Amino acid sequence: MGNILIHFNDNSYWDDHLSEESTDSGSTANDLDFLRMDWHKFLKARRSGGGFKLLESYMNDNPGDHDFPETRVLWIQGAQCTGCSESLLDASNPALLKAFEILNIDLKRHEAFLAHQGLFVDGEPANTSELNSEILLDEISEQGNYILMVEGAIANGPDGSGKYFMSGNRSSKEMFKKAAQNADLIIAVGTCAAYGGINTADSDIVNILDYRGVAFTKKDPSKGMLNLLGIDKPVINIPGCPPHPDWIIYTLSAIISGNVKIPDDLPEVLDKFGRPKVFFPPDHNVHKDCPRKEFFDNKEFDTCVGGEKCLLKMGCQAFLAHADCALRKWNDGHSYCVQAGSPCIACVEPDFPDNTRPLYSSKKNRKRKEADQ
Ligand code: SF4
Ligand code: SF4
Repeated sequence: MGNILIHFNDNSYWDDHLSEESTDSGSTANDLDFLRMDWHKFLKARRSGGGFKLLESYMNDNPGDHDFPETRVLWIQGAQCTGCSESLLDASNPALLKAFEILNIDLKRHEAFLAHQGLFVDGEPANTSELNSEILLDEISEQGNYILMVEGAIANGPDGSGKYFMSGNRSSKEMFKKAAQNADLIIAVGTCAAYGGINTADSDIVNILDYRGVAFTKKDPSKGMLNLLGIDKPVINIPGCPPHPDWIIYTLSAIISGNVKIPDDLPEVLDKFGRPKVFFPPDHNVHKDCPRKEFFDNKEFDTCVGGEKCLLKMGCQAFLAHADCALRKWNDGHSYCVQAGSPCIACVEPDFPDNTRPLYSSKKNRKRKEADQ
């Protein structure tokens, strides 16, 4: 076991930032037990070895046994924009289909990816699971033995009926209940599924709509849909609006490889809001590794888009965001929100967006403006 070496390349940026790791010359596959890893070490391994190699290291742990047993995944969508699914399609290291192949994932149902699964043919309800995603959902959930991935918040309103969000003939609450009951594990993908997200933003109608996250609504687990339904299942939250594809794929990999046992290991690898600590470090925030930090330290701020200075006065809330975005970066490691000129809106936090509203606007600046008028 663990005889594959992942060699770290020389990289002055990483050595400068991760000085405590700079003497490492390599890491074994056992060390790459990444949901348990120190997040600095994980990022360094991922950056130098590549995510593809990182995933393959699990397969090479067992010579002669190069295939994981098939894992069935059932994906359902509540109130969402499909941005989380689109983000997953952007996975690049490895690409999504390659990751599914390596991990031997059978995606049984996904209404956006598997678009042939409609509900009606020639105006009549389709009556086979190949054509009708409601029948498919029933079949798979009755068989059990799957990971349920939930994208989007689940409506409880009006009056507990869940009918403010219908898909075909069913409410998303009904679909979620059906799918959750026999799931081995539930992964809430994106801030809407994890905590309610923009669906639970404070408004005149928020209590009537009564959207819920899977295991939390905002920071409150007692208001999660699972608690409301009286269903007890292990849950992993992968927040983000949208989440980084690495966060989703590497979490699946850790589970499928057996390196994180469900449910026994979850208290060790998750934070108090159900997030993998390796991607959402409790002791770290996006501000700490910002490429604009020198400007922050020198109190030099941009006040309109297109500059290179600190974005604090344009509403940057990176202090609140516990995530590795500034080091991992998005789009195959090229850039991320703040680097691209957009203030961080702390989209990974349970109370997003109310904790950071008004977005892209410094509250202090706004108050000053109001005082001046
Ligand atoms: S732009 Fe945001 S993350 Fe970067 S230094 Fe300024 S406040 Fe911090
Ligand atoms: S940088 Fe901030 S807004 Fe952008 S993805 Fe990360 S947490 Fe969300």
